[in-house]
Amino acid sequence: MTALVGLKCRACGAPYPAEAVYVCEQCLGPLGVVLDEAVVRKTLSRASIESRPRSLWRYREVLPVLEPGRVGPTSGMTPLLRAERLGRAIGHDDCWVKDDSVNHPTCSYKDRVVPVALSRALELGFTTVSCASTGNLANSVSAHAARAGLRCVIFIPDGLERGKILGSAVFRATIVAVRGNYDQVNRLCTELAERHRWAFVNVNLRPYYVEGAKTFGWEIVEQLGWRLPRHAVLPTAGGTLLPKVAEAFEEAVRYGCAEGAPVRIYTAQAAGSAPVVRALHAGLDRFEPVKPQTIAKSIAIGNPADGNDVLRIVRASGGWGEMATDEEIVSAIRLLAETEGIFTEPAGGTTVAVARKLVAEGKIPKNETLVIGVTGNGYKTQEAVVEALPAPRVVNPKVREVEETLAGIPGWEDAK
Ligand SMILES: *Cc1c(COP(=O)(O)O)cnc(C)c1O
Ligand SMILES: [Zn+2]
Repeated sequence: MTALVGLKCRACGAPYPAEAVYVCEQCLGPLGVVLDEAVVRKTLSRASIESRPRSLWRYREVLPVLEPGRVGPTSGMTPLLRAERLGRAIGHDDCWVKDDSVNHPTCSYKDRVVPVALSRALELGFTTVSCASTGNLANSVSAHAARAGLRCVIFIPDGLERGKILGSAVFRATIVAVRGNYDQVNRLCTELAERHRWAFVNVNLRPYYVEGAKTFGWEIVEQLGWRLPRHAVLPTAGGTLLPKVAEAFEEAVRYGCAEGAPVRIYTAQAAGSAPVVRALHAGLDRFEPVKPQTIAKSIAIGNPADGNDVLRIVRASGGWGEMATDEEIVSAIRLLAETEGIFTEPAGGTTVAVARKLVAEGKIPKNETLVIGVTGNGYKTQEAVVEALPAPRVVNPKVREVEETLAGIPGWEDAK
């Protein structure tokens, strides 16, 4: 039994069948899925969720597929960590980290959206899958396609981090690096989708893809003991994650799984690619596209597809947003690593840096539950921090040399 009834234009409401379509023929608005709430309610409850395997498919009622768990049976259900030491460092008393840097199998939040999109691709009979990506999406599509036996061709801007390229190549995806930035890659994919019957997870399968992001929010609620946080800081790239996490918080309340006041949601962007935060600060209703220039390549999208939704939702929630410079991002990557033992990529550094600013500005009160979304893994983007970190101390294999070297480190004797 599936609650998926079809698609609907998010602008004019025109109905469409649940196929690989994504723009309204009448008004060019984006299409979204329609779920039958009565069907969802039949089986969705705290108890039914808790009885299922620990993956994103435990929230199957709100995911738009016919057969849950066919792709990505082990994706999702990543840790929500109480971050006391990070909290102390940024001046907050109830700080948590939702850690998708260890999502399975490719170590980013994209392992939530891809299983949903590829499940739908299989159901619609596609044999080739594709995407426009800043790296993590490409890694995730490549891995899940390999396991599903699908042909995979991915499109990335040239000049991505080596770890991100290698992390697709190893799954034998065909990689096309386009001379240009992500926004140009995305436009190219839109044109290709008109000509080839390929499932582009974030173009013609976008209505299904975005729903997978809700599980990031559902997991936070379940892991807090069926309670909403008061504040959530989330990164914005194309603008999929943030609105869908907000929707998940609403769904959890609407379907009787959680109680609590509405969550205040904050967007985090890199200063070199911050169209949404700039619009927020300027009091505009719509963002102005920018040309991205930042070390946070996975969130370097200058013309985010759902950027205006992010703006609207952040405002309506009573939240806010900030941006972080490359320097602040590197320093926040190190802070999270040193305080919580989590190595994130620049996107996670951005979120931590922004959370730190918002707490310092008094926008987030220090004693109300705060969840910081960490969405990617630092092992893929070593170039971002390698220059900032000290080299190893080299010694001969002699106890005395070790002891002399350690004694020469300033503050060694006092360090814990
Ligand atoms: C894709 C991505 C995001 C957020 O992207 P949205 O397009 O806004 O959903 C955040 N962090 C990382 C590491 C990502 O790969
Ligand atoms: Zn329409």
